Amino acid sequence: MVANYTQSTVPIPSLALSPALVLNADFRPLSYYPLSLWNWQDAIKAVFLDRVDIVSEYDDFVHSPSFKMRLPSVIALKNYVSTSRSPSFTRFNVFLRDSFCCQYCVKKFSTHDLTFDHVIPRSRGGRTEWDNVVTACSACNLKKSDHMPNEVGMIPVQYPHAPTVFELQRNGRNFPSNYLHHSWRDYLYWDQELEIG
Ligand SMILES: [Zn+2]
Repeated sequence: MVANYTQSTVPIPSLALSPALVLNADFRPLSYYPLSLWNWQDAIKAVFLDRVDIVSEYDDFVHSPSFKMRLPSVIALKNYVSTSRSPSFTRFNVFLRDSFCCQYCVKKFSTHDLTFDHVIPRSRGGRTEWDNVVTACSACNLKKSDHMPNEVGMIPVQYPHAPTVFELQRNGRNFPSNYLHHSWRDYLYWDQELEIG
């Protein structure tokens, strides 16, 4: 049974800011960038549907007439979701592969200041594929225009390639979300060296 939750006993801002970090069944985040977060309503629904285990909790409670429970801060899927398929060729994934850095001037930009550039221009037969498309800032894109890389001395710092899921996950970890609850740290940085002492 999924009860009807009331927010009466918990301040609304606190509830609104209590997302649950969603882990795969192997206890790694489903995704790093954007971070896999569910709002507390979805998290609790999944608990009741027996699809997730609660790994960690907030101090805040949620009430219904018939029960009271702590809001989950970390949940883990009971069934493993495969992430082994190849990443889709999207604008965002190209940016993520290139760590939001212009591949010509190597400066970091936010997504709305980035464009993508065909290393071999389309006018010279270059295709829109992983191995011919790189992240570029507007200035570099304009400068390179329809030239071949060697004509203008603009060689991408990293040779464009189709990334693996692992590679995108790894890059995504370098861009933490604005809000990181302390209970998430162990799962976000699970392979970090342990501090002794
Ligand atoms: Zn640039």
